Amino acid sequence: MNKIPFVDLRAQYSEIKDEIDTAIAAVISETAFIKGRFVDQFEQEFAQFLGIKYAIGCGNGTDALEIALRALGVKCGDEMLVPAQSFIATSEAVSAVGAKPVFVDIDPATHCIDVNLIAAKITPKTRAIIPVHLYGLPANMPAIMELAERHRLLVLEDVAQAHGARCHGKLTGTWGHAATFSFFPGKNLGAYGDGGMIVTNDRAVAEMAQKIANHGRIGKYDHEFEGRNSRLDGLQAAILSVKLRHLVKWSEKRRTVADRYLTRLDKKNLKLPVIPAEYEHVFHLFVVEHPKRDLLAKQLSEHGVATGVHYPVALPFLKAYERFGSKPSDFPVAHQQMNQVLSLPMYPELPLEWVDRVADLLNAAANPS
Ligand SMILES: *Cc1c(COP(=O)(O)O)cnc(C)c1O
Repeated sequence: MNKIPFVDLRAQYSEIKDEIDTAIAAVISETAFIKGRFVDQFEQEFAQFLGIKYAIGCGNGTDALEIALRALGVKCGDEMLVPAQSFIATSEAVSAVGAKPVFVDIDPATHCIDVNLIAAKITPKTRAIIPVHLYGLPANMPAIMELAERHRLLVLEDVAQAHGARCHGKLTGTWGHAATFSFFPGKNLGAYGDGGMIVTNDRAVAEMAQKIANHGRIGKYDHEFEGRNSRLDGLQAAILSVKLRHLVKWSEKRRTVADRYLTRLDKKNLKLPVIPAEYEHVFHLFVVEHPKRDLLAKQLSEHGVATGVHYPVALPFLKAYERFGSKPSDFPVAHQQMNQVLSLPMYPELPLEWVDRVADLLNAAANPS
């Protein structure tokens, strides 16, 4: 029997090989490696896709967060509210600009920041909320925007896992004061290398982000301040332009895979992803929960099925944040879920017969009898 991989980026490339190869050849023949028309074009297309005014390409999703925080005027000593479960980049960017990540436990149903716990974490130093649309499901943006307005906080959305997702009809990345995307190859819109994007409707923030990402430049050798070098390159931009044209279709295919899992999987013994009404999930990951997660993963692996864990140690409990001395009882939901979450194979081209096989194997493994 075939092995079932966790993702298969080659399957996607085979589908669009001609378009991609043509795009790459064009960049090389025009030697448009840094800046240039392919980057301009993708920035415009991405802004148009979101219906937002400004999109600024940069080196990767982590840089995008860091540059956006700086462009928003975050300073040393500011506190940023960050969900307790995410990839470390979210909180890493906060520390990188000298601010302090303040973790907020997650909602047990959605895995995103629990909006009911935000107010209790706000202090006079709090400047911003950084919601993460984890696994492809939007965080509760209406409630977050309302809280932010009431407490005069900024909102920076981390959309690394949710390109094209919606909440109440509105796309993720268009709710906050700014938002950041990652184009890491495995993301829903992935480059063939690193890439990131900062988006905003605020002209001053956009101009600042643009300058920070390009050495504080206002002219070729005229630098207003010390910035950094974090640019989206021409090859990645050209590849992303091709892939953006397929994104909506790929998200639909991810949802078809997810629907199949949801119909097939045993709801009695497994906790399955929840899709709240008015939310459009783009299933970057399909995550189930079970108390014997490691055992299930091992049994699937013995049958040739690859799985993942996102993430095995929630942010407050990483060695990197030992200094905060967090206890499991400070973040009970994140602490429980980090031991129970299991990500199943998920990519647009995943054959439905394979989904069925994964579901059958998992149902058998999760059955206590
Ligand atoms: C992938 C990811 C990032 C960082 O993106 P890179 O492009 O790898 O730097 C940030 N936040 C979240 C939630 C991510 O999943």
